[in-house]
Amino acid sequence: MFESVIGLEVHLAVNTASKLFCTCHADSFGRPPNSVTCPVCLGLPGTLPRVNRAAVEKAVMLSLALGCSVPDYSRFSRKHYFYPDAPKNYQTSQADGPFGEHGSLTLKGGRSIGVTRCHLEEDAGRSVHPEYQDHSLIDLNRAGAALIELVTEPDIRTPAEAREFLQQIRSVARALGVSDASPEEGKMRADVNVSLRRPGEELGVKVEIKNLNSFRSVQGALEYEIRRQADLLDAGKQVTQQTRGWNEGGQKTYLMREKETSADYRYLEDPDIAPVALDAPWLERIRLASGELPDAKEARYLAAGVREADATLIAFERDLATFFDAALSELSAQESGATPQQLANWLGSDVSGWLNTNGLSLDGSGLTPTLLVSLVSLIARSEISGKTAKDLLPEVMQGADPATLVAERGLGQISDDAAVGELVDGVLSANPALVAKTRENPNAINALLGLVMRESRGKARPELVRGLLEERLGL
Ligand code: ADP
Ligand code: ZN
Ligand code: MG
Repeated sequence: MFESVIGLEVHLAVNTASKLFCTCHADSFGRPPNSVTCPVCLGLPGTLPRVNRAAVEKAVMLSLALGCSVPDYSRFSRKHYFYPDAPKNYQTSQADGPFGEHGSLTLKGGRSIGVTRCHLEEDAGRSVHPEYQDHSLIDLNRAGAALIELVTEPDIRTPAEAREFLQQIRSVARALGVSDASPEEGKMRADVNVSLRRPGEELGVKVEIKNLNSFRSVQGALEYEIRRQADLLDAGKQVTQQTRGWNEGGQKTYLMREKETSADYRYLEDPDIAPVALDAPWLERIRLASGELPDAKEARYLAAGVREADATLIAFERDLATFFDAALSELSAQESGATPQQLANWLGSDVSGWLNTNGLSLDGSGLTPTLLVSLVSLIARSEISGKTAKDLLPEVMQGADPATLVAERGLGQISDDAAVGELVDGVLSANPALVAKTRENPNAINALLGLVMRESRGKARPELVRGLLEERLGL
């Protein structure tokens, strides 16, 4: 009887080479603590930030892809808070004049979710709390790396929609090459806001759950929080505005603090950073450099005759889509008679199955678009049966050329009329009883067909065998 109202704040680690305001490496994975730092990202007095152009372009690119309007000038602001892993005692972020505003993203079911804003900000360092010590440690390697923060309108209605929104954002960010957007590597994190109301009522008091780092935990935290708030309201109590955390082990949210309001951050336009002027020619270049979005890919696959389920699966997975696109252009180059749907079938079922079983990614396997097209073409040209192709797949996945395997092992289907004709005649003269039976009842032909196929060790083309049998028996 309550309707849930959800808004998301999504953080994406931007995949630039350097940090947002200095030349330190942005990706410090595996480096010793505090080794990827400099006076700028340590916030030492007397240093000046310089805005990373590539990070700006990526933020603008994502903003444009989400249909945001991009201002003529975008500004950076200081967001003040004291936190041990924020060395400057403020975070350089954006308040007024973010790179994108008023965009939207449409979910598969057709519902449009408003994107309030899309801005750039710097990441914080990390506090480490070793069990064996009585103090905490700070690692500032991540401090100053570029993040895109994307805030939605409270347009989302269910935990499943929240999850789908995040999955789509991940696909778009990957397709654009803006962020790896992998929650498992901390490159995509979300804060979720949720309130309840009776349908038609004003928005209720919201609770924010911070720092969720998997799609599953977003869904789990929202489901838990919706139950918690419904119980309060059912008992005639009020929901109070809070910031909560998610306890993955206990599958519960817990109170962190009563939420600060934005006034507490004392936003101040950063006097050290000039506004970034976004003129039309630059925006046009960014637009042109954008990759094709998943929606457009999906439409292109559908137009090429790929079934919707396969088109969606492939279009929204960057690695699959890249592979599939390369295979499609091979396909038209080779004029093999194979169809895009046949390729999609192999990619979506047998190839994916083999990768799952072997715990490998497409990249990590030996399969190339050329090899897959070659395999599918052999079937399309009736040179091998689907069964033979499946038998060959494990070797092809490890980089073997199927055409070579077929030639070396004599696996090609026998489609030579004379050769098959000999096999057919042999079987007919050896099985007079079956021949008589089939003359009476043509359905019995399958037994003869099976015998010829066995004689050919599966290499005869079944349609050819059937045709020859029918001809010889006068059916
Ligand atoms: P705050 O100032 O507390 O950060 P914002 O207005 O900036 O709040 O909104 C933060 C996020 O919370 C946005 O994603 C927004 O859509 C969402 N939100 C705002 N009000 C509500 C509400 N009543 N219920 C659920 N989500 C809300
Ligand atoms: Zn630095
Ligand atoms: Mg906010």
